[in-house]
Amino acid sequence: MSAIEDLYREIILDHYSSPRNRGELPAPALKIEGANPLCGDELVLYIEEKDGQIKQVKINTKGCSISQASASLMTEAIVGKKIEEIQKIIENFKDMMLKDGSFTPTVDLGDLEVLEGVKKYPVRIKCALLAWNTLIEGLKALQNHKKPEPVVME
Ligand code: ZN
Repeated sequence: MSAIEDLYREIILDHYSSPRNRGELPAPALKIEGANPLCGDELVLYIEEKDGQIKQVKINTKGCSISQASASLMTEAIVGKKIEEIQKIIENFKDMMLKDGSFTPTVDLGDLEVLEGVKKYPVRIKCALLAWNTLIEGLKALQNHKKPEPVVME
């Protein structure tokens, strides 16, 4: 394993063993549930939005190291940001995880890039995307002023 892969692995394990922004937010924060039955990953995402900005994010996760590390990294990447910026991060992250070949992001993905290695294990890509698809549903609900639907990875 190369030095860079070692470093990436270390960052993933660090987020798995000490997840960031863990917990809950009281209503009126938005609450969205997500599940990846294939692996048994489950999470509940709470987001507090004000004037188009994500003020606070909390997450409760249960599942494999990839799903939990991805959720933890995601909370760090989006907290305090404007929704338009977050949409760009989501787009870039999904392209990184789903497109073949080398990937050049159009925004700074920071530590999120450590998850690119998960591509080598196609069955785990859904684990990495669970928190993100749950976030997409949450942002959609905010935009349409409706209740979010639970997200199930298929
Ligand atoms: Zn998983």
